Amino acid sequence: MKINSNGSKSYKQIKGRDVVFVFGAGASYADGAPLQKDILPLIMSGELLDIRNSKTGQSVTEFIADNFAWDNQVPIYPTLETVFGFLDYFISQDEHLSAQYPNARIRAIKEGLIKLIHYVISVKSNEQSRTYCAFWEAIYRYNPNIAILTLNYDTLLEDAFSMVHGGRSNIDYALHLMNYDFAGTKQPEYYRNNQASMKIMKGHGSLNWKYCHCCKQVLLTPRDTKIDLFDKDNGNDKGGSAKHYCPVDASEFETLIIPPSHIKKISHPVISQILSEAMREIRSCKKVVFVGYSFPDADVHFKALFKKSLIHGQEVIVINNSKSKTLKYNYLALTDNVQFIKLSFAEFLGHESLVKEILTVNDGSFSDRINYRPFYDKVIDMLRHN
Ligand SMILES: [Zn+2]
Repeated sequence: MKINSNGSKSYKQIKGRDVVFVFGAGASYADGAPLQKDILPLIMSGELLDIRNSKTGQSVTEFIADNFAWDNQVPIYPTLETVFGFLDYFISQDEHLSAQYPNARIRAIKEGLIKLIHYVISVKSNEQSRTYCAFWEAIYRYNPNIAILTLNYDTLLEDAFSMVHGGRSNIDYALHLMNYDFAGTKQPEYYRNNQASMKIMKGHGSLNWKYCHCCKQVLLTPRDTKIDLFDKDNGNDKGGSAKHYCPVDASEFETLIIPPSHIKKISHPVISQILSEAMREIRSCKKVVFVGYSFPDADVHFKALFKKSLIHGQEVIVINNSKSKTLKYNYLALTDNVQFIKLSFAEFLGHESLVKEILTVNDGSFSDRINYRPFYDKVIDMLRHN
């Protein structure tokens, strides 16, 4: 701390990361994870036998059929936002829908739908998660001094991490995990928090986090990429998904994700803790690289977060091959120091020299970096023609 001549105090900025990556849906999509809009049609189509035959699958699809209409010929389906919005309405108002759907059943159906989403993502994702593996390899080759804020609640990024790094480094979720705190519990290499750990902040929660509303702690469930819709305590009377109970107070756990919904509950204590951590990381880093994220209208909280955290002169790079014309304006609204690279995540990772440049922090100005030129010119060209 330094005392200035006028008596005010200024605190020394903590030395931050070289790069903070921000991953949107476009990053996981490269690994074959179904896009948000494809998940519900997959659940309702009956194409996946486990969904058709399991109690969770039947209960959720019956609820959707009772309350929404669609046409698979057109095709027109309700969005996940609409279904979660409807469920969240009854949950937040503590209201029943009907004798058949009292509030407790609505909650169980929401949990069941989250489980089906987890299942669909796990069966439809490329097993090897090639893109994320290539990403981790590049990180450890060129510069591991990074942190990640991901808005995806799937676990493909972490799965690829353990595939590439095994026990050599660990994940730091920037939150307290109750099952790695009990005395005598062996901490897996993977999650131990130490200096060499890789910080992954999951701003919309994670499919492998269970939250207890009583002791307000998070339990990390084992990373099973194969989701079993038929697990043994699945046949509960509410027709929801398998229940997990808190080892401290025996309360029922709830999966901690912020589902796509018109009512986004970002006031969740764990989520706000993660977002505060993300703000600190962004404020102190040298470069922010956005991958496959376009600032949808529903994510106004992220716009607020970046508007508050980005500091003047901080370099912002956007890797996105979206054809959306509003994309660049969404970023220009945040900062004028933004560079667009019109490539998909997989294409970007295929350009060794470009990846190296992005991960290298130096004092040279952006336009001087020779390796950027072909991409940069292409983007300028593209912007001119729009
Ligand atoms: Zn508890």
